[in-house]
Amino acid sequence: MRKSILMICLTAVTLLAVPSLYAVSPNQDMVTNESGEYILPELPYAYNALEPHIDEATMRLHHGKHHLAYVNGLNAALKALAQARETSNYDLVSYYSSQVSFHGSGHLMHAIFWKNMKPNGGGVPTGKLAAAIDKEFGSFDAFKAHYIAAATKVEGSGWGVLGYDPMGKKLLVMQVEKHQNLFVSGVVPLLVLDVWEHAYYLNYQNRRADYVKAFFNIINWEDVAQRFEAAQN
Ligand code: MN
Repeated sequence: MRKSILMICLTAVTLLAVPSLYAVSPNQDMVTNESGEYILPELPYAYNALEPHIDEATMRLHHGKHHLAYVNGLNAALKALAQARETSNYDLVSYYSSQVSFHGSGHLMHAIFWKNMKPNGGGVPTGKLAAAIDKEFGSFDAFKAHYIAAATKVEGSGWGVLGYDPMGKKLLVMQVEKHQNLFVSGVVPLLVLDVWEHAYYLNYQNRRADYVKAFFNIINWEDVAQRFEAAQN
């Protein structure tokens, strides 16, 4: 009797676990198609869904033009490198390698960024992520102040990043320039905030600090927690 109840419980747990297992599968961000080409993932919400914090016009340009340009740039650089292998002509290998880094990082960071946000998001993280933030930064408020300062003070174009270092088993806040510079190798990005001017200038003009603070009203902490969980496995 007890065993059958246990089995029912296990089955229920397994069924309940399916969506979250699916959500942390390796290609959850849908950044490639079946033939391995990089593609622009759809937004998980409407273009106006993040208003008033991020306006519709900014979202349309940002996703449909800027992000798409990184996808195209990455595919083009990989094609040029494939051609280099075919012709054994590596004269431009340094150029195309840097293009892979720039456009590849641009593509992947944006794919994470869209899913890090949701309408009516914000609040505070819960569970293991909340505990890890408290352990690493002292408190959620201390983390938030650090993250806001890092993102606001990026020189020029870049990102604020909360990442997980799987080797040191630690959370890190990073201040990334462009899409790829000042990154710590091996760290998995969990929560990323685009502070390029194209991300906020239509609505906020030069008030980057206001945009960074507004981001905390639309963070999808469930997505961040799933990334944290996946990064630890
Ligand atoms: Mn961007």
